[in-house]
Amino acid sequence: MKKTLYKFATVINLKLYGDDESERHFKAVEKMLDDIDQQINMSNKDSEIHAINEAAGKKAIKVSKGTFDLMKVSIEYAKDTQGAFDPSIGPLVSLWKIGNGGEHVPDVNLINQAKSLVNYKDIIMDEANLTIKLAKEGMSLDLGGIGKGYAADLVADYLHEEQVESAIIDLGGSSIIAIGRKPSGEQWRIGLQDPDRERGEQLALIQLDNETIDSSGVYERFFMENGVRYHHILDPKTGFPTKNGLKSVTIIGGTATDADVLSTAVVVMDLEEGMAYMKQKQNVEAMFITEDNRIYMTPGLKGKINLTNTRYTLVE
Ligand code: ADP
Ligand code: MG
Repeated sequence: MKKTLYKFATVINLKLYGDDESERHFKAVEKMLDDIDQQINMSNKDSEIHAINEAAGKKAIKVSKGTFDLMKVSIEYAKDTQGAFDPSIGPLVSLWKIGNGGEHVPDVNLINQAKSLVNYKDIIMDEANLTIKLAKEGMSLDLGGIGKGYAADLVADYLHEEQVESAIIDLGGSSIIAIGRKPSGEQWRIGLQDPDRERGEQLALIQLDNETIDSSGVYERFFMENGVRYHHILDPKTGFPTKNGLKSVTIIGGTATDADVLSTAVVVMDLEEGMAYMKQKQNVEAMFITEDNRIYMTPGLKGKINLTNTRYTLVE
């Protein structure tokens, strides 16, 4: 059975197969997603992350264990990626407002000011009391680069506990978990979005069982000014949308939380740095699409991607 939900500005598609309790599962998942929204959605004024942001530079806020642990993972990744992924990106996201209509390139002084507030080292975590404090006024957290993966993992944990053996969890087309195999016993075939085309148009198919796949790209949300595309993945070092020859990155394997962070982080790096970074990670593979429509991949993906669009070239 299929169900579409709309939560945290994301279209969520769930497909459960061979299970006559689907309706009960859909209800449980919807409740779970509402709880996640209350924890980590900074746009939700009742959320824990919103409370932390409101109290920036002033006081520490007590949070749930789930939020605390997710922030811990976010900070570990910020260190590991040398700040390419930074959960304190909030001031820049608020300034650029990409995807909210009426956008324009902000004044460079404002960009520099917002940039100076982005630094994961200024997030003060107190494990004993489960509190989080932002050291400086004006700082803010934004978990848009990890939240969908986190939600997908929690949904998958629930479905595993309920012994659902065949399912697809799809958050916004960017964080996808395939559970088990198709009811027919075949592997799932997941379509990879063509970065230049309407949503749903694919450039390749990849076959998987029981795996996670996550994509980030400069095509998801953007605006144009003077012929330049300004998109929603920001480089904390420059304060601008990334501009490094990459159109998108797809990560396969790991938890969906890992894959969501990694796809964003690697878009911030360039092809060379991102490829070197991903090659030293175990059990996680990456596929990169460059602006000249070439597709590069880590060795573990060779032979697994079926190109369905001739505008692209696989670099084997
Ligand atoms: P999608 O939302 O399509 O899955 P991503 O997973 O790449 O895309 O997340 C992009 C979101 O992450 C942005 O909308 C913003 O909220 C946040 N973000 C942007 N740049 C960064 C960054 N350098 N580090 C962490 N989060 C970021
Ligand atoms: Mg994502």
